[in-house]
Amino acid sequence: MTETHMPIRSICVYCGSRPGRDPAYIEAGRTLGRAIAAHGLRLVYGGGTKGIMGAVAAGVLGEGGHVTGIIPEFLVDMEATRHSLGQLNELIVTEDMHERKHKMFERADAFVTLPGGIGTLEEIVEIMTWAQLGRHEKPMVFANIGGFWKPMLDLLSHMREEGFVHTAHKVQPLIIDAIEDVVPSIMDRWEDLGRLKGDDAVISRL
Ligand code: AMP
Repeated sequence: MTETHMPIRSICVYCGSRPGRDPAYIEAGRTLGRAIAAHGLRLVYGGGTKGIMGAVAAGVLGEGGHVTGIIPEFLVDMEATRHSLGQLNELIVTEDMHERKHKMFERADAFVTLPGGIGTLEEIVEIMTWAQLGRHEKPMVFANIGGFWKPMLDLLSHMREEGFVHTAHKVQPLIIDAIEDVVPSIMDRWEDLGRLKGDDAVISRL
């Protein structure tokens, strides 16, 4: 798939299906959701209506924004309820996790990672591997709420220093501490990309 550069339309958020220990995580999810809607962008996410995932979706919907939830059938009753899924503007039920991840990728112009667990980590790492292999140039953000992602960022630096990140210039996620700076920083990165590449920018080749 090849896309030319156009105004940013959607943001995919990866985050925990649990609320986590610090209430600041849920609050950050809700605030990010509100900001996505306020900027006229669509949320693409994993469809879960619990934990931080639920908070992000509620934030978008509360501001009258648009939410696309993409969830595999076997997770519908584990990470959501059929009733709450009915509130989303668009619901895509996939056969498996692979189809879910691919559809999330296709429908998103940028990726934000809030605090989360192993599922969250897997999702953002895969997106970074695709960037490293030159399959896309979509902005990627670590929302570093309370320094949550520091151990991960330290590991990435360590890998770079030890010479294992072979195309480091292609994997440059934005590290943003304040949740209200996340959407503006994505918009700036998107515009920079457009200026660099002109109208023929290749954003995705998957
Ligand atoms: P977690 O961070 O573990 O709470 O998971 C956050 C989201 O990632 C949930 O919607 C999980 O279903 C999803 N997830 C878990 N494992 C995977 C995986 N292997 N690939 C993609 N998403 C996953």
